[in-house]
Amino acid sequence: MYAAVYLHKGKETSLQRRHPWVFSGAIHKKDADLKDGDLVDVFSAAKTFLGTGYYANGSIAIRIISFVQTPIDVAFWTRKLQAAYDYRLQLGILNASTNVCRLFFGEGDGASGLILDYYDGHVVFQAHSVGIYKQRNEIAEAIKAVFGSVLKSIYDKSAETLPKQFSEGVSNGFLMGSATAVVVKENEVLFEIDFIHGQKTGFFVDQRDNRLLLQRYSKGKAVLNTFCYSGGFSIYAALAGAARVDSIDISEKAIVLTNRNAELNKIANHEAFAMDTFDFLKDKKQVYDVIVLDPPAFAKSRDSKHQAVIGYKRLNEMAIRLIKPGGILFTFSCSGVVDKFLFYNTITSAAIEARRQVKVLHYLHQPPDHPVTPYFPEGEYLKGMVLFVE
Ligand code: SAH
Repeated sequence: MYAAVYLHKGKETSLQRRHPWVFSGAIHKKDADLKDGDLVDVFSAAKTFLGTGYYANGSIAIRIISFVQTPIDVAFWTRKLQAAYDYRLQLGILNASTNVCRLFFGEGDGASGLILDYYDGHVVFQAHSVGIYKQRNEIAEAIKAVFGSVLKSIYDKSAETLPKQFSEGVSNGFLMGSATAVVVKENEVLFEIDFIHGQKTGFFVDQRDNRLLLQRYSKGKAVLNTFCYSGGFSIYAALAGAARVDSIDISEKAIVLTNRNAELNKIANHEAFAMDTFDFLKDKKQVYDVIVLDPPAFAKSRDSKHQAVIGYKRLNEMAIRLIKPGGILFTFSCSGVVDKFLFYNTITSAAIEARRQVKVLHYLHQPPDHPVTPYFPEGEYLKGMVLFVE
């Protein structure tokens, strides 16, 4: 159906285990004029069909989006998106209290490079590959088919996430409808989301469960939320009865968003500061009962893993020193290349350096709308710990 690609003998096993990537070294034969984003059918050396995917010139040469042979059209995408939506409804992620979630999470939902976030009827589409970007009109039609009249807009925000050499001529824009800022609710907490100007798709949808857990530890406490972005953890803590909440983010824009969300939820006892977290922590006394550390990915690739670990250790050591005896640390890493065991070990050495006894209360991870499948362990990126600090 699509251009055929044949693998070397023995190179079919990872696809048979449903890992969706084909490395360039596994390819025995392909058309010479394949272009980035072209659809291809992949066959074993014995000419058995393995999957349909899209090609990219690079070390990961093909990303499989279907393990059965079928046309990649609006009907295909509709089936895929419907399955992703049904899964989220079945798990109760979208419900009367929450109308925001990740609707499609790349390989975890069966299509590498496709991210969709749902904001109460508004869908933000983000292509991380040319192959997905080329399918955007089909995907937009599928979104319309799945949501019908509930759908208010589709915004394509791929300019920042496409590979550099391709993104030059690409600009963000609506594929359907229009919107400015949208107010959503997550566990009944209100958030204004400006997906056009905001970071990533506009909101960090992946901390919903962990924000809820913070509420358990916040009543009557002095809480510090660092790397706060639009104030997610801060607002939850304040609503749970924190005595006071301080929010820190290096971005002025993030602080504006945080203050707006504090107003929206009628929060008192909250202050937000546009500052570097490291500078803020440097000369503080032990005034906080609870500290949240949710930094951006310190490592974006394997090469920066070592530096990232040093960064996590330094940050966590500073925070652990600052926590009042009997206090709580919520600490996270969203660097995919720093796996959870490396992260746990790093936090342990930070606690040792800070000379504080700690107990692990929870190991945290990404929520089920960012599904991890055992066939694709690389999809696991968010990890965290809650520590009791003596
Ligand atoms: N915890 C947030 C998401 C954090 S994203 C939430 O629940 O929504 C990471 C944030 O860290 C971004 O908003 C970015 O502006 C901020 N940031 C990056 N480097 C920083 C630094 N050195 N100090 C403070 N904030 C920083």
